[in-house]
Order: sequence, then structure tokens, then C-alpha cells
Amino acid sequence: MTTFLEEVNRRIDGVPIQRCYHCRKCTAGCPIAFAMEYNPNKIIRMIQNGKKADVLNSSTIWLCASCETCVTRCPNDVDIARMMDVLREMAIEERVDIREKNILKFHEAFLSSVKMGGRINEPFMIANYKLKSGDYFSDVGMGLSMLMKGKLSLFSPRTKDIKAVKKIFNETKA
Ligand code: SF4
Ligand code: SF4
Repeated sequence: MTTFLEEVNRRIDGVPIQRCYHCRKCTAGCPIAFAMEYNPNKIIRMIQNGKKADVLNSSTIWLCASCETCVTRCPNDVDIARMMDVLREMAIEERVDIREKNILKFHEAFLSSVKMGGRINEPFMIANYKLKSGDYFSDVGMGLSMLMKGKLSLFSPRTKDIKAVKKIFNETKA
């Protein structure tokens, strides 16, 4: 039977995470670590110890911003950002009760926008996210301010080769 560690490594398809010797350079540089339930290197330790339910149920995997600071700092080339992607995929597949539901909804709104036009259409993405999350008013002020300053485009361009984008979505079953 495949262990949790083996499955995570298989999906990462890169440097195996047991290369980690827990120097904590990743955690020291992570801009989101202060808000995480478990630090990035702690997640690696938990995977090594087979704590699948705790890892997939944790808020950490959703709070990771995929900034890749940890990847650039790791002396062993462990790709924690990719690992977090893998863990999010596994959490969705295993239908765990996602702790950060609005972050998942934001990911879905982002991908819908890319799927539709090949690029982000900010008004569409924001409207889609608001409908999904039911969080209608939390950042209206910021949105208006961005609009006034020209930071929010109402008419985002579409990519020329939308067929290629659709093909990527079909082939990755996104
Ligand atoms: S920086 Fe790399 S080796 Fe160090 S704790 Fe993080 S993942 Fe492990
Ligand atoms: S990719 Fe995620 S875990 Fe790594 S530094 Fe950025 S936020 Fe932290």
C-alpha cells in the first residue's frame, strides 16, 4: 500500500521531501508563516510521520500564497510551493472539510476567469468570487479606490489563442 509520503512525492514529481533536514530556512523566510497553523517545515515532518488527516485538514495548505520564497531558500531544493499545490489537490479529491473555504472559492473564480478568456478579467473574477463566497461588501471601498486610480480594468483583453487555453484545461481536467 502506498504511504502518504510516497503519494505526495509521486505527485510532486521532483526532489523527494525526505531530503529536508529541517533547518527551517523555509519557515524563517515564509511571509505567511505567522498566520499558519503549522509551519512549512512542520508540514513536511507531519507528512513524513503519516499524519495525512491533520495535514489535509489544516489551514496551512490554503494559506500558502505560492510565492516560492521557501523554494529559493531551501538548501536541498525541496519544492514546498509545489508540495502545497499537491496537498490542496489531495484535500479536494478526498472531500475533506476545507478549512479556508473562501480561499478555495477565490482559486475557483481565478481559474474560471482564465478559462473564459485566457487572462484575468478582474471585474468578472471579483463578481464571481463575491457570488460564490457571499462576502459582498468586505472590500468595496478598496475596489472603488482601485477603479478611480485606474488599477482595475473593466475591459481586460482576451488571449488570441483561446483554443490553446481550453486545451490546457481539458488535458489537466481543471
Ligand atoms: S529549507 Fe529545505 S531543508 Fe530546510 S527545513 Fe525547509 S524544506 Fe527542509
Ligand atoms: S510558497 Fe507558501 S510556504 Fe513557501 S514561502 Fe511562500 S507562502 Fe510560505
